[in-house]
Amino acid sequence: MPNGYNGKILHVDLTKGALTVEEPNEAFYRKYMGGSAMGMFYILRDMPKGADPVGPDNVLTLMTGVTTGAAISGQSRINANAKSPISGGIGDSQGGGFFPAEMKFAGIDGLVIKGKSAKPMYLWIKDGEFELRDAAHLMGRKTGEVEDILKEELGDKKIEVLQHGPAAEKGVLFSSLVSMANRNNGRTGMGLVMASKNLKAVVVRGKKKPMLADSKALAALNKTGPKILPDNPDMPGLAAEGTATVVLFQNTIGSLPTRNYSEGQFESCEDISGARMVETVLKERDTCHACVVRCKRVVEIKEGAYKVDPKYGGAEYETLGTFGSYCGVNNLAAINLANQMCNEYAVDTIAAGATIAFAMECFENGVITKEQTNGLELKFGDADTMLKALEMMLNGEGDFGKTLGMGSERAAKKWGNGAEEYLITVKGAEAPAHMPHAKHSLGLIYAVNPFGADHQSSEHDPYYEEGVADLNLNRLKLLGLGTPQPGYSLTEEKVRFAYLTEVFYSMLDSVELCQFVFGPAWTLYGPAETVEMINAVTGWGVTVDELMAVGERRLNLFRVFNAREGLTRKDDKLPKKFYKTLKGGGPTAGIALTHDEIESALDSYYKFAGWTNDGIPTPQTLEKLDLAWAI
Ligand code: SF4
Repeated sequence: MPNGYNGKILHVDLTKGALTVEEPNEAFYRKYMGGSAMGMFYILRDMPKGADPVGPDNVLTLMTGVTTGAAISGQSRINANAKSPISGGIGDSQGGGFFPAEMKFAGIDGLVIKGKSAKPMYLWIKDGEFELRDAAHLMGRKTGEVEDILKEELGDKKIEVLQHGPAAEKGVLFSSLVSMANRNNGRTGMGLVMASKNLKAVVVRGKKKPMLADSKALAALNKTGPKILPDNPDMPGLAAEGTATVVLFQNTIGSLPTRNYSEGQFESCEDISGARMVETVLKERDTCHACVVRCKRVVEIKEGAYKVDPKYGGAEYETLGTFGSYCGVNNLAAINLANQMCNEYAVDTIAAGATIAFAMECFENGVITKEQTNGLELKFGDADTMLKALEMMLNGEGDFGKTLGMGSERAAKKWGNGAEEYLITVKGAEAPAHMPHAKHSLGLIYAVNPFGADHQSSEHDPYYEEGVADLNLNRLKLLGLGTPQPGYSLTEEKVRFAYLTEVFYSMLDSVELCQFVFGPAWTLYGPAETVEMINAVTGWGVTVDELMAVGERRLNLFRVFNAREGLTRKDDKLPKKFYKTLKGGGPTAGIALTHDEIESALDSYYKFAGWTNDGIPTPQTLEKLDLAWAI
């Protein structure tokens, strides 16, 4: 068994109720390392082309990585992959908390789940033993209730639960997988896939610590974390205010999507800032297994119209962006209640908030009327109406609630009447709260990313622009990036930056590391420490290049999957609204992306990636990556 791993992948066939263990060899582990690179091996091998995303043929993988469970910050992560019910291409989402480490301790490295159970079940894994158990009593319940019932039933408060919620049972397309009732594998509908298999939850508990090649080296690196944290320009803010710390910066550079991406600055940004959260509603900070950063929020509101239960955590930046400025809402309590509702029902807050903002713009422009909204008067800035729309969405209430639950792209098709002019989606995925008008290379990544617009798939432009801090640039130099570019640009060098940092992030989603702790530029640890850490765990002697090859494998396997399902360059397409000039104030007012810059960036990007001009990996590229089997 290789260091760092259990050497066991558990295959779950829900149709047959069969559980079987595979023990891959060390070369397999070193080639894919874990997470979505490893998941893609099984998905491409076991899922037939054209599988129904909510049918038994879809294959859902849940994979930890090489370092999961080791005593160092940022390692307790897990990636979920399957065919996405939103795009019909690959789905991908990373989540953290304590579940991933506990799954490792329970004796397995990953799960490959296929088929469909005749009745609702949950999978119980404890100390290397596993069984499927009846889950009928858990259905229809909020995630926090399910956690409580399972802890009582299994007589152990330290179990960890990864579950889909009631929204998936109502068919909400962007349903997530939730652990601890507040940590999400949020994007691309992985909760709906698990629900479609009649698998309610995976529950884990164990005592098995992974073997380490050099525990002293790992402990030494771990000890540096708290020491270097205060000197990193970005870390103290993240620790003190959580991801909400970027609200004001985003506003300053004109990248805070306001009223459905019509403006890049929100006049009430201070009301939804990280500092305001700390002053008003924050109860405490929380963390993931062994992490010193403690960026997670716990919000409690006992008085007023919007009460919030700390069990469901607190709003992250993306939730503040989508339910806040995206909807024109400045009520922090209401946004945190929206966050709670999304966690109770298990949905992606980005898709949920952005879909409501899209409906608001449609309503304000007369595309839809009270007839379509079941009487709701949807207006930007109206917190009560936003929460009512969310409630209808989560419960599949009325035609409007059901339509919202399909996401904005399908809603636009249903409503017609010019609704598609207001879409902010790529491959069906609503764009996060980072605007390509301020971060042009991120716009390129929104277009090419195999699972749609995503902000966690590459480094953002300000870290490769003139004036970037030495710490950031010195790290990027390890990836061959030493020439910062002008702001608000999409030069050829920026495309190279987008591609190379995308590959690094892709590796992080395979090795399974938190992108706030390990990364190519701003995080607690940089590429050099990433290599050091993996070698301390495995003893393999890996280099940055070997890790980058893992990232490339993941990206290429995603694109192979998408090509097999018919997705090509035509799907690497940004919404029309990105090409219209922004209103409002700030540095992005009057700015629009141009078709010329994006098409030319696509040409360059495909060349860097070794793909055809239609965005498909060439046989030579796959052979170079030792992926000839995927041609
Ligand atoms: S930085 Fe935040 S999200 Fe990442 S592992 Fe630490 S506590 Fe979890």
